[in-house]
Amino acid sequence: KQVFICAGTGCISSGANTIIDLMNVEIERQGLAKDVELIATGCRGFCEQGPTLVIEPAQRFYRRIQPEDIPELVEKELAQGEKVERLFYVDPQSGEPALSYEDISFFAKQTRIALKNCGFIDPTKLDDYLAHKGYEGLKKALTMAPEAIVEEVKESGLRGRGGAGFSTGLKWSLCRATPSDKKYVICNADEGDPGAFMDRGLLEGDPHAIIEGMLIGAYAIGADEGYVYCRAEYPLAIKNLQIAIKQAEEAGFLGNNILGSGFNFHLKINAGAGAFVCGEETALMASIEGKRGMPRVRPPFPAQSGLWGKPTNINNVETWSNIPHILRNGAQWYAQYGTEKSKGTKIFALTGKVNNTGLVEVPMGMPLRDIIFDIGGGIKDGKKFKAVQIGGPSGGCLPEDMLDLPVDYDTLTKAGAMVGSGGLVIMDETTCMVDIARFFLNFSQSESCGKCTPCREGNKRMWEILDRITRGEGREDDIEKLETLAYTVKETSLCGLGQNAPNPILATLKYFREEFEEHIHAKK
Ligand code: SF4
Repeated sequence: KQVFICAGTGCISSGANTIIDLMNVEIERQGLAKDVELIATGCRGFCEQGPTLVIEPAQRFYRRIQPEDIPELVEKELAQGEKVERLFYVDPQSGEPALSYEDISFFAKQTRIALKNCGFIDPTKLDDYLAHKGYEGLKKALTMAPEAIVEEVKESGLRGRGGAGFSTGLKWSLCRATPSDKKYVICNADEGDPGAFMDRGLLEGDPHAIIEGMLIGAYAIGADEGYVYCRAEYPLAIKNLQIAIKQAEEAGFLGNNILGSGFNFHLKINAGAGAFVCGEETALMASIEGKRGMPRVRPPFPAQSGLWGKPTNINNVETWSNIPHILRNGAQWYAQYGTEKSKGTKIFALTGKVNNTGLVEVPMGMPLRDIIFDIGGGIKDGKKFKAVQIGGPSGGCLPEDMLDLPVDYDTLTKAGAMVGSGGLVIMDETTCMVDIARFFLNFSQSESCGKCTPCREGNKRMWEILDRITRGEGREDDIEKLETLAYTVKETSLCGLGQNAPNPILATLKYFREEFEEHIHAKK
């Protein structure tokens, strides 16, 4: 029997490490060590139910395990093969216990590509990754012409998962086309949106996939050096990535003359100090160079002049994680998922007032309603849905009548939100939407690097207006002022942080304007 215990940061925070230790002791004590293999995995996604474990081959899913549950669980489930029903997940809508992992709609309704290995392998063991077809995408890539790899990625329709949604293959082709004796590839792991932990799950749970994706990209572009820029607040992600890099070097997947192909690639980790603006490409590169992390004017674009003035290709964690699957299975296989213009799947961090919080991966184009109610299990405590904030501080809040919108890049942008990096914060009927706009704007204004005036000053002034409205001191012309400022900041800020910071205000004003008016008029 195999016991897969989630040891991602979410489950660790609810006690997974203690459960692993106690389980090992109990398995030994009951004389089962020879028959049972305990595997500490990365995040399986169902963080709200942690600590969680899955017993194979019975496919039983146990959740919210407490230390006192261990003796019974080991004796009944592992020694006698009997169920321990009181530890089963109970569907919040039907009230029925789920007898197997496959019966849980949180998992059953997902399509996992990037998250495929998360929760199913020990991320610190290269052999586990290899047993799940790891590095086969790289092996195939090394038999192909670099131009053919770029074409394959273009044909797959993969768009950057970090927020901008630019074609990954096209981005690679621009960097490949720039002549230079030195090029770099970078993995942007500076995930900083409130409520977002997609990249953390991938880094912790399947670090070799990111390394393999970067190797394939570097070979296609002609780069021989790479960096993973990861926020220092992700210690487990950095640790697992360090282990994976060392293993890949020892096994000949990283370094000189990789697998005898003549291709050289060296990879380093750069721990960022937690500035949100360092997720912006030019600020990120400045930070790696040891300078203050501030965006600069583009052009030149990184593909022409990036890290230390050399052509550089930057993709985020989720984008790189998809690459091995595309190479191994082909562009057409990947393009079967998603919509005409948004191919493949997307990982979302489902948080807020929803029953099943956690990491979910769905095909692009799935309606928001399916994500929130089928996978997410509906709203907590039987309350009514009010809004979903999608795309983090750069996105917007959408109301109930937009729930049937398909989640894809173009539809959400038209609706005034954005896919962004994948944060989905659910709000119920008790949420004040002016407060929400103030919260996200407070985040953006405090993370502004201060380089350009509209972002530095405009966001602060908007926050002050929102603050006085929520305190019942709003003025008659405050909504008009907010709109004027929001459009000015959007149109005149230098980088994406400033350009998108007003989005939560504009979307909230578009769909929940009456709440602003009620706050302003209530004081009289
Ligand atoms: Fe800095 Fe804001 Fe200007 Fe971006 S828009 S460069 S974060 S001040």
